[in-house]
Amino acid sequence: MHDLLLVGGRVLTAEGMADVDVAVAGGRVVALGRELGPAREVLDCAGAWVGPGFVDVHTHAREPGGEWKEDLATVTAAAVAGGYTAILTMPNTDPPVDGAPTARYVLERGRAIGRCTVGVAGTVTLGRRGEALSHIDDLWDEGVRVFTDDGDVVADAEMLRRALAYIGDRGGVVAQHAVDATLARGAMHEGWVSARLGMRGIPAVAETTIVARDLLLVADTPCRYHVQHVAAAGCIELIARAKDRGLPVTAEVTPHHLTFDHTEVLAGTDPVFKMMPPLRTADDVTAVREALRSGIIDLVATDHAPHADHEKDVPFEEAPNGVIGLEWAAAAVNSAVGLDPERFFDRMSIAPARLAGFDEHGHRIAPGRPANLVVFDPTAEWVPSGTMSRSRNSPYLGRRLVGRVRWTIVDGTIRHEGAASRA
Ligand SMILES: [Zn+2]
Repeated sequence: MHDLLLVGGRVLTAEGMADVDVAVAGGRVVALGRELGPAREVLDCAGAWVGPGFVDVHTHAREPGGEWKEDLATVTAAAVAGGYTAILTMPNTDPPVDGAPTARYVLERGRAIGRCTVGVAGTVTLGRRGEALSHIDDLWDEGVRVFTDDGDVVADAEMLRRALAYIGDRGGVVAQHAVDATLARGAMHEGWVSARLGMRGIPAVAETTIVARDLLLVADTPCRYHVQHVAAAGCIELIARAKDRGLPVTAEVTPHHLTFDHTEVLAGTDPVFKMMPPLRTADDVTAVREALRSGIIDLVATDHAPHADHEKDVPFEEAPNGVIGLEWAAAAVNSAVGLDPERFFDRMSIAPARLAGFDEHGHRIAPGRPANLVVFDPTAEWVPSGTMSRSRNSPYLGRRLVGRVRWTIVDGTIRHEGAASRA
């Protein structure tokens, strides 16, 4: 008797998409095919895609130190509701994850909650101050493989060069919040909208100057290098050229940068449209969509960034950056870009798992693999109206989306059941 039988879906297998059933037992996929025998639960996957659970490499869980916004219990509830089976939390907590004790705290809390896999990124520099390297070896021993000062750029070229050398030697990843702080003192994209509103802008060159410099450093000191939340079209050309030269470079884009442009700010200066990097032009949106399709941008990352109502309910210029997004990221990507299922699972699951080193996630479905799966209906229409997150700062709330998670299965156990029907 199998634990679960997923019947009637289109499944991402080693040979491509196939109309087969999937049997799960003991936490693993045990068979693909038809007439696989009885199961304790049968899930009707008709009309849906069955693939590896989504993996987010850019989650701000806010724990420790920001639990009024979010914590590891609420963020993992939001994650599984959005089809995620693994998340990598960002280290800009209070205290930051710059050494073993904080890393261990986050990892142990994630395990104790037990809803999905929780990995943690470490900071590049101690206290995210940009002055000295963090305790890289101690973090490495805790299993940390991705290092970032996210929230801030590693501005100092010498510091970044040392990080590339040290982390590159170990095979880790340096992920950069590629925004030059001296060019990013504004509140939104620098363009005709900021001019009309009389708001100080952040030019696209704030992103491209950092990416250009960093890629020169990576060519000189090879290390896996990842550009976080690409928003400006100019970055894409730089990344494409670096990939052509064989540099170990990857890049991510967020659902909101795939969906919205700076004109959203014009229609009411709502702080749910304030993020870093800012929403840029329609041409930038077209460029990041195309780069995600072509693979120049490797993957989607949510940059799920909870803030309490009282923090976001302030004038636009004073509001903190960021939006939540785990629960509707897949729907937003499906609505904005409309990837075919192979590319969809590559950008949402496979590429992010590879980046973060989540070996149990992000694989094509095959017997013997851990059953970390998502059943995603690419045609279901819905309007997000509430959230499992402790915060509600999202421009997608109240907005019609196409594509919805039916089930999230972690280690063979159903962790989320959405608008679904059972056979
Ligand atoms: Zn960032």
